[in-house]
Amino acid sequence: MKINTDGLILKRGVVGESDRLVTLLTRDLGVIRAFVHGGSKVKGKTASATDMLCYSSFTVTQSKDTYSISEVTPIEVFFDLRGDIERLSLAQYFCEVAGALVVEGEPAEEPLRLTLNALYLLMKGLRPAAQIKAVYELRMMTLSGFMPDLTACDACGKDPEGAAFFFCREGVVRCESCGGEGGILVSAGVLDAMRHIVSAPLERLFSFEMPPESLAALAAVCERYLLTQVDRRFTALAFYHSL
Ligand SMILES: [Zn+2]
Repeated sequence: MKINTDGLILKRGVVGESDRLVTLLTRDLGVIRAFVHGGSKVKGKTASATDMLCYSSFTVTQSKDTYSISEVTPIEVFFDLRGDIERLSLAQYFCEVAGALVVEGEPAEEPLRLTLNALYLLMKGLRPAAQIKAVYELRMMTLSGFMPDLTACDACGKDPEGAAFFFCREGVVRCESCGGEGGILVSAGVLDAMRHIVSAPLERLFSFEMPPESLAALAAVCERYLLTQVDRRFTALAFYHSL
């Protein structure tokens, strides 16, 4: 069966002498792994279109559990990210996160659009890296069934006015007066930003501004939430933090 879709190459590997096995985040099939036969030897368009961080239009042939790419046309390449090691490592981290959170076989329009937007903003330097990272982490979690409940205090049911405690394992908030042992204290501004990230339409998702200290706090809590829920290591994240 032939399927036409578009997607982003998350990862690229070589299998055997000349075949490639790529991991793709596709609009119609979620995250799949697909062979590119003779991929390493193919010069020009096909070779670069199956490189990591290339967003392309694909014709994928499915037989049983195996996919192979028969045609590919590049749409957008994010290769400019390669010029900056910090941005590149974040882009690689986003690819790892998408590979870990998006399931195979289901449409993934929103995760794909989110990832493409994040890479574009990162490549163009249109938002601080910490902001793009925080938004990507929390929104991707939300899209993957891990949306935290930020609407009201988990204990008293009231809207925490002002600072609140956020609990990464439970994905809930508590107001200061209900107490927060084991929670992370977040300012009202950080909580507002988190609420925005889980609910704003994609067009406005990245459009907010925060002072650098608040942004750092937001980035820390979003990362902690993702790592707590997903419970695995991300190689590119460790590298990003080592820079
Ligand atoms: Zn409360």
